Amino acid sequence: MNYEFRDDEFWKQIPAWKDVTREEFGDHKWQLKNSVTKVAKIADMFDGTLPAELIADIEEGQVQTPMNVRITPYIFALIDWSNPYKDPLLKQFLPLGSQFLPNHPYHMDDSLHEDVDSPVPLLTHRYPDKVLFLPTTVCPVYCSYCTRSRLVGGTTDTKNKETYGANVKNWEPAFEYLRNHPEVEDVVISGGDAFMLKASLIKILGETLLDIPNIRRIRFATKGVAIFPQKILTDEDWMEALTDVHKKAVSMGKAAVIHTHFSSPNEITKWSQLAMDRLHGMGMIVRNQAVLQEGVNNSYEEMHKLVKQLSYINIQPYYVYQHDMVPGCEHFRTTVGEACRLESKIRGTTAGFNMPLIICDLPEGGGKRPIHSYFYYDEEIGISAWRAPLVKEGKVFYYYDPIVKLKPEIQDKWNDETLRDQMVEDFKKKAAEVMEAKDAYEKEVLKDSGVAEQA
Ligand code: SF4
Repeated sequence: MNYEFRDDEFWKQIPAWKDVTREEFGDHKWQLKNSVTKVAKIADMFDGTLPAELIADIEEGQVQTPMNVRITPYIFALIDWSNPYKDPLLKQFLPLGSQFLPNHPYHMDDSLHEDVDSPVPLLTHRYPDKVLFLPTTVCPVYCSYCTRSRLVGGTTDTKNKETYGANVKNWEPAFEYLRNHPEVEDVVISGGDAFMLKASLIKILGETLLDIPNIRRIRFATKGVAIFPQKILTDEDWMEALTDVHKKAVSMGKAAVIHTHFSSPNEITKWSQLAMDRLHGMGMIVRNQAVLQEGVNNSYEEMHKLVKQLSYINIQPYYVYQHDMVPGCEHFRTTVGEACRLESKIRGTTAGFNMPLIICDLPEGGGKRPIHSYFYYDEEIGISAWRAPLVKEGKVFYYYDPIVKLKPEIQDKWNDETLRDQMVEDFKKKAAEVMEAKDAYEKEVLKDSGVAEQA
């Protein structure tokens, strides 16, 4: 495996930045100030040398995507602009109109039912001891595959959003809820992105949560380590706030960690390694949560490289998510079968604690389940059935593979409403029979062994 991470002045391939020094490029303020937020500017940045068809395709992508454009110069310059149609970073952050596919008929804006399972504003409470807290809807980049496209970033041609910035006053109901729910021990601070919270807000948020007796663990969920390592290297105020929260957690016997979000090994450079050296040096645990994406990381080679290189720079690979069934993402999704085969192939290639668990976050709020744990799957028609007894007892959850990956005759059925309804209904009946047979087996056949009771 190659651990000689990229350390060239790759930003100089962009004509507009050909004179930018390493020091300027490495400064977090320069990165924020020069983030690309308008497609119209891209042609000028290349002095008109980018093909007109590519610019038109990027513009068409903006008409179709639910996400705004915002890319740090670091990521923008890592795109291979000589081969943009195959580039995994361009696909994630600058969607091309020609790549989009019609949404799946069962897609949902809030596919994980985060809003449905929200007891007070900004908080989702699904698992008994864990909550998700969304203090802001702003991010340093906007990812085209975002599962929270319904509320993250600004309004686009396809999506009206009520976005919000960080405001401490609006956080109080969530804090109060946590004080009144002693069973909650674990808070994921996401959004939006914690990287966009000011240093003072990182402190207020971190310290307030740690001061709640029942809260044992907080996680700052941020894509920042992957797309903006310069902040970790040069934003001293922010790092001081993060360090203070981390030290306070450790002094209380609690944990404050970072969950980040590398999806492609092309996001890893010497800058990432230096940023991780700093975080690792202060004792900060960093785990990664990638999203499985067609053409980005769905091959053994790319996933293996991602896992090995993350491990090398002390990021635990932790999770790979099967893509959620949200709008504007059909071209990113893979089938459950592909994910299972990838999981089988990659498992065993490195130590277990660095082996990501490939999971499906079940539509309608069933929570995260290992990709092999469906109880019934018809790969030909692309439907899997799942249960999550401790999260929502008795409910069956369904995940639907992308139609474009199915055989042409099955695609025809999906595209005909009557045939589709019949096919889905038949699947659900069959799944119910399989579930009943499994339950009967566990009750009757395993009862003497005691296995059923243990399970
Ligand atoms: S950083 Fe996270 S929340 Fe923000 S757009 Fe990307 S995936 Fe969505």
